[in-house]
Amino acid sequence: MTIRTRFAPSPTGYLHVGGLRTALYAYCFAKKNEGKFVLRIEDTDRERFVADGTQNILKSLYWAGLIPDEGVMFDNEENIIQKGDCGGSYIQSERSDIYREHADRLIEQGHAYHCFCAPERLDELRQFQQLNKLPTGYDGHCREINPIEAQKRASDGEKHVIRMKMPKEGETVFNDEIRGEVRFKNELIDDQVIMKSDGFPTYHLAVVVDDHLMKITHIIRGEEWLSSVPKHLQLYKYFGWESPKMAHLPLLLNADKSKLSKRQGDVAVEDYVKKGYLKEAIINFIAFLGWNPGGEREIYSLDEIINEFNFDKVGKSGAIFNLQKLDWFNREYLKKMDLAELVQRAKEFLLADPEIFSAIGEGQYEDKDLARVIALERERVTTFSELPEALKFVFVLPKYKSDLLIWKKSSVDELQNILPGLKDLLSTISVQSWDRTILERTVGDWVKEKGYSVGSVLWPMRVALSGQENSPGPFEIAEVLGKEESLNRIDLAISNI
Ligand code: GLU
Repeated sequence: MTIRTRFAPSPTGYLHVGGLRTALYAYCFAKKNEGKFVLRIEDTDRERFVADGTQNILKSLYWAGLIPDEGVMFDNEENIIQKGDCGGSYIQSERSDIYREHADRLIEQGHAYHCFCAPERLDELRQFQQLNKLPTGYDGHCREINPIEAQKRASDGEKHVIRMKMPKEGETVFNDEIRGEVRFKNELIDDQVIMKSDGFPTYHLAVVVDDHLMKITHIIRGEEWLSSVPKHLQLYKYFGWESPKMAHLPLLLNADKSKLSKRQGDVAVEDYVKKGYLKEAIINFIAFLGWNPGGEREIYSLDEIINEFNFDKVGKSGAIFNLQKLDWFNREYLKKMDLAELVQRAKEFLLADPEIFSAIGEGQYEDKDLARVIALERERVTTFSELPEALKFVFVLPKYKSDLLIWKKSSVDELQNILPGLKDLLSTISVQSWDRTILERTVGDWVKEKGYSVGSVLWPMRVALSGQENSPGPFEIAEVLGKEESLNRIDLAISNI
């Protein structure tokens, strides 16, 4: 049997980080078992529909490298296409006839019924139940209407929904791949609406029909869907189908253990992309929210996660979305990534800054030069979005107050001696010898010979070159700027004292 998993987002705007985790686990489980990862769009809730929602979700999935094998996907130009033969579209709004047929089948067999209750009646019912501290839910008012009469009222155009009949006694028991045995009392479960009055199915009918017709073997999704399982299993029973296996993933939590919410930070994958996190770091971080292969090791590539993935290693309790940990992962990946690759990815962030864009735009920076510039900061920044600020001084002559040139234990007088002396000394180093090691040795010897303190020389040298209070060391910067530019900047500093 081929393992088939699916990710079934609703296109309500963007890909949530929780959705990325669901997609990642579904992807990894499929790949680990040489199966297929299917993408289906669940857009039957027309009130929450967002026009480019599917495009956004696909963009984030492709960015992360979670490419569907079947269903809704991108072609090479990022147009949305579909691939696969599940007997129709993988977009639920294009499958209305299929759901209608299945709902009719349930009605014919006495497993579902027309409900004509007006919203006002349902509101009153809910208020009454709440006031009297009763469990809320539909009271079965229309369940006993004669089916022939109900069919006639519906055909005559009376507004209605279709509800499934939930058994009122007994228990639904099932075995979750993560939680083990889970039990529900049937009497507490509503006669769920399966077709709405707008002719669209609800999630509950559509998900069951689609998972069956699309031959899904493993349903992997968030814990918030666990309470829907008894309704779904009842539908599988009514249709006479075998249910796929199910795995419900632990909730994602804020640091204060509340459910992860927008109010406490970004939850859209695209926000983290914009901030310049590396996809490797995001994937690694997200994988560890609820899953742990065991042992001390934390750095795992997508392929390594696939190799190690199984449900036994997924926890049951909520996983805290800890941004400091994400930052840690990102710094680790920044440190170890191949420099040429890093340059390709960092470039767009540097070029987004208009001043850097025009400096680079003049053509004086090839990739190999950019590599040297970026290497200055790769171990100092947390994400790419910090790079333009951190590196602007390389491309654009920095502005700074001349006071900044004076080291805390030094004076203007001393500076007036030191900087011109330093400039003369540096002029003697040839362009060929202009690298950080030679610069450091030459300046170091000179400092000793003159009896200066190290700070009184290195501080103003660094400020003259970078214009910043905090920056990489002066020799690294001088090497990257080159001899001519370094001497110019020291000259400028001298004239500013
Ligand atoms: N459309 C549902 C969602 O966006 C999917 C639930 C499921 O995977 O069954 O959360």
